[in-house]
Amino acid sequence: MDKMFDVIVVGAGNGGLAAAANTAKEGLKTLLLEKHNIPGGCATSFRRGRFEFEPSLHELCSVGTAEKPNIVYKIFDDLGTKINWEYEKGHIFRTIAKGENGFDARLSAGIEDFVKSMEKEVPGCEASVRAFLALKPKLDAAIDYIYATKGNPNGLVMLLKHADFMRTAGHSVEEVMTALGMPKKAQDLINTYWGYLGVPTDELNCMHFLNMLYDYVVNGAAMPRHRSHELSLALVDVIQKHGGEVWYNSEVTEFLYKEDGSICGVVANGEKLYAKEVISNVIPHNVFNMSDIKKIPEQNLKLANAREFGISVATIYLGLDCSIEELGMTDYTVFIAGNPDPRVQNDTRHDDGLYIVNSLNNVIPDSSEPGTCTMFFTIPVYGNDVPKDLKPQDYKKYKNDLAKKYIEAAEKDLGISIMPHIEEISVATPVTFAHYLGTPEGTIYGYKLSGWDNLMARIAGEQKDFAIPGLSFCGGHHTRGDGYSSAYIIGDTVGKRVAAKLKGGA
Ligand SMILES: Cc1cc2nc3c(=O)[nH]c(=O)nc-3n(C[C@H](O)[C@H](O)[C@H](O)COP(=O)(O)OP(=O)(O)OC[C@H]3O[C@@H](n4cnc5c(N)ncnc54)[C@H](O)[C@@H]3O)c2cc1C
Repeated sequence: MDKMFDVIVVGAGNGGLAAAANTAKEGLKTLLLEKHNIPGGCATSFRRGRFEFEPSLHELCSVGTAEKPNIVYKIFDDLGTKINWEYEKGHIFRTIAKGENGFDARLSAGIEDFVKSMEKEVPGCEASVRAFLALKPKLDAAIDYIYATKGNPNGLVMLLKHADFMRTAGHSVEEVMTALGMPKKAQDLINTYWGYLGVPTDELNCMHFLNMLYDYVVNGAAMPRHRSHELSLALVDVIQKHGGEVWYNSEVTEFLYKEDGSICGVVANGEKLYAKEVISNVIPHNVFNMSDIKKIPEQNLKLANAREFGISVATIYLGLDCSIEELGMTDYTVFIAGNPDPRVQNDTRHDDGLYIVNSLNNVIPDSSEPGTCTMFFTIPVYGNDVPKDLKPQDYKKYKNDLAKKYIEAAEKDLGISIMPHIEEISVATPVTFAHYLGTPEGTIYGYKLSGWDNLMARIAGEQKDFAIPGLSFCGGHHTRGDGYSSAYIIGDTVGKRVAAKLKGGA
């Protein structure tokens, strides 16, 4: 017999979990379908030998603390979960740039300490750094207003009340920094963070970057004690506690439409499942490929095709048979680049670009057994950076060569010995992420937030985004863009919106 639900959510990534938790909590008969045997998508964990690795999360922004909760903290709290948050203390990151005008600096957490650490590295930059950070509350006020008007803000109100937002929102990070008189070295120091957003700062929207940077500066980075799997399991608990169902090993292979073009369900495991509303955590490209193409409005197809896929990554996970002290790593996050300029870092990514080294034991000392530690390397690359002529039989060598290259580089750049201590190693490339997440080109960030398709444009144009009756999207590919916090926020928003619609409140 066909099964009927109020809401079907496709994909148990961060966005899907947050959406399903909200609709279930609102009393709606909710079904969450996930193709894997565990929840989380990117937000999971995996074991090799005696090590449990975090596969994706370096830093979660917009968490805040119990005393000063920020939006992500509130989302988990409102859903009744109890997360063991841990915080990176002291420095938010160390950044090493080699070559001419290079540097090796540690930037501190907390506005005052951050500004001081910047001033120490670049005397005279203080005023411009403060001015840059001061834009953030203005951004928040403007975004709140745009949301309150459902994307139809009054032009005069924007000009009169949100003038600084209007002056800056359409510009890149570097354009705004330069306009504020920030010296180039200060820009390069701060802008190393582009690696976490996947778009170099001469192209990245200023407000998008500031949104993330500010939260890290104020609160430091937060992460759950038991890897991101803790977050995913907590949301599954909420769904099940409120009577929702979570079906694993249930890949959706088709989206079902009514004659009038509205969505009415999906097919999973060969079974037709119906719902009043479907929420997709799966990227629109894949949804459209699983749909009767005649049912997709032409404008939606054009929008999807006009968007570029976001960045992917290559990652190396190491379990070492020595403690973090013996290894000699004192920082949680180190950015290392062949050149101080983010554009050059991006353009030389195949060779001597940017790589990031994280050592979780520096935030959670007992995240591995005593006398051991883990390292997590991240190299921002695109799916189409993987050589087109790479043959399946050569893939292992490709991964091994990549790992060797970056481990040797880190030994040299950080002055530590890694190779003799490797007990476990796992290497992932965009191919791994394409395979695991099912995303085109292995994008981990959905569509690239850049140019006409920047964060501000997406938020302002949300109502005109993909618009198929009965279908909502949530996840890193949607209006808030990439990252854990964005995926949770949009999942939470969409879940609440759908619940309100079905309960007659919207
Ligand atoms: C290596 C790495 C490092 C990262 N570092 C950070 C970081 O430090 N900070 C940060 O904020 N963000 C980071 N991110 C990005 C962040 O993880 C993602 O932006 C975010 O988790 C995306 O969430 P999502 O909701 O879009 O779901 P996804 O994680 O993309 O999950 C989608 C889910 O849908 C499922 N699915 C797909 N197709 C189907 C189908 N047909 N049927 C059923 N299920 C399906 C998938 O199996 C998956 O579970 C990182 C990502 C990676 C990979």
